[in-house]
Amino acid sequence: MDSTLAQTWLRAVAAAVDHRQQELTELDAAIGDGDHGSNLHRGFTAVLPAIEGLDSAGAVLTKAGSTLISKVGGASGPLYGKAFRAMGGTLTEGGDFGAALAAGLAAIEKLGGAAPGDKTIVDAWAPALAAFERTGSYADAAAAAEQGALDTVPLQARKGRASYLGPRSVGHQDPGATSTALILRALADSAPG
Ligand code: ADP
Ligand code: MG
Ligand code: MG
Repeated sequence: MDSTLAQTWLRAVAAAVDHRQQELTELDAAIGDGDHGSNLHRGFTAVLPAIEGLDSAGAVLTKAGSTLISKVGGASGPLYGKAFRAMGGTLTEGGDFGAALAAGLAAIEKLGGAAPGDKTIVDAWAPALAAFERTGSYADAAAAAEQGALDTVPLQARKGRASYLGPRSVGHQDPGATSTALILRALADSAPG
């Protein structure tokens, strides 16, 4: 990944969040507090000017992460913020994108303590990482994240606000897993070929 792809990716995320803000908010209204769309919209809108002119993918993703941490309250701001910072740091140290995705997942798990099956971001990120490690394809990572988000529907939430609902969280798709799928689809759509 070079700086141009990293910037194109984040612009595509911002556009997709703008397009799907209401859907993300409705998912969060069902099992949370109805702010996931507005949280991400505020965050990725602030990311766009912050990443202008940065000349490496590592710097771009690191700046995106620190911007999300400073602009987004709620669970998703620090979780995505630390994930993007970890991805950027890995690229800066010479790691490839698979290593970056793995570092992003580790940061999310360290901060949030969620495991696969807890109905969170992890349920889309972990299968995306596994798919990328198998094939090296952004499109495969995006498809796996989308399937992982769908697969959260029958789960009972064990982390985050949705866990307060207990069994009433069953039957709804997790907002954060859905936004992770959106983020990785934006990457697949941004990559050449
Ligand atoms: P908040 O719940 O604080 O209002 P958001 O609505 O922006 O924040 O984000 C909610 C999403 O955050 C959830 O759908 C879930 O995917 C994710 N999430 C919450 N807690 C955790 C956690 N501990 N680990 C991973 N993801 C989490
Ligand atoms: Mg919320
Ligand atoms: Mg909130």
